[in-house]
Amino acid sequence: MWSFREVVGNRKITEHLQEAISRGRVAHAYLFSGPDGIGKRFVAERFAAALLCEKKGSEPCGQCRSCLQMLGGNQPDVTYVTRTKTVIGVDDIREQVNQPMSIKPYAGKYRIFLIDEAEKMNEAAQNALLKTLEEPPAYGVIVLLCSRAERLLETIRSRIVHLPFLPVGDEEIVAFLMEKYQIPDYRARLAAALAGGSPGMAAAFAASEQLQARREAVVRLMKSLPSDDAHRRVTQTKELAAAKESLADDLELMLLWIRDLLVYKAAGAKGRLMYPEEAGEIARQADALSYEALRRMQEELSAFRAKKDANVNLETSVWIMLSHLSECFYKQPWEEGT
Ligand SMILES: [Zn+2]
Repeated sequence: MWSFREVVGNRKITEHLQEAISRGRVAHAYLFSGPDGIGKRFVAERFAAALLCEKKGSEPCGQCRSCLQMLGGNQPDVTYVTRTKTVIGVDDIREQVNQPMSIKPYAGKYRIFLIDEAEKMNEAAQNALLKTLEEPPAYGVIVLLCSRAERLLETIRSRIVHLPFLPVGDEEIVAFLMEKYQIPDYRARLAAALAGGSPGMAAAFAASEQLQARREAVVRLMKSLPSDDAHRRVTQTKELAAAKESLADDLELMLLWIRDLLVYKAAGAKGRLMYPEEAGEIARQADALSYEALRRMQEELSAFRAKKDANVNLETSVWIMLSHLSECFYKQPWEEGT
């Protein structure tokens, strides 16, 4: 059953909302902002369920008629605002928010409107919404979910309670993934590291077959770095440059390999690795490289990641980046003339 206890991270936000419910001091409009997968919709649905629950606690009871309707996606006092085009237009707001807002709730104390991807409202739509925000009926609650809060008009932002969702710590995400999906520790760590603080993204990574395939490809690539087999490097360059959508993930996976080298260098076999099944190779590479060389490799990759979208010729720059990484194994590429 839905509960605020299921929410991963952002405890301050759930506490704030639960307190507002128990004190009966619910605002007419909220803005939940933060990146995709951070839990905005997850929290908004629990908030709506709790507001309408017939038991009137600060958690949805999961058993009353309203909670069952909520779970079934047919609670008549909750509207998910949808859009017909790429933007949320003025008609969408008029027809799905402003007009139905004048109808009193069917059963509960509130009528709730959830506007997902609120940054997609065009200016006319935002101005239409503003009218309702200026004079909301006592039962009206609007929740805007938004990854780009700065795209909303200042006049909207000044009228609503803004709750910014913050990135969730890796440890909390790892614990959540291992418990919920029963996946091994290293896989949960990898997914958390790639997800940048977003539990939803981490769950998607953890379940992704494609990620497993990319991981295997990156392991092959990193294992081959000490060799200067030019033929193989051509193939690897083409592979990396061709899969543009997954290049960001590949680079992150490569950085995690280098992180493992640093962990091994500092802590030996006791260190917790992202690639534990490759511990033998990681030990060999860590022994072959100085801290300075590892730092250079990290810099090379980070710099490449920062400008990868601006590269006119991606293949050439991937080739140069891989060559520099490889050179770290047998010479000091940063020394002039070597
Ligand atoms: Zn209930």
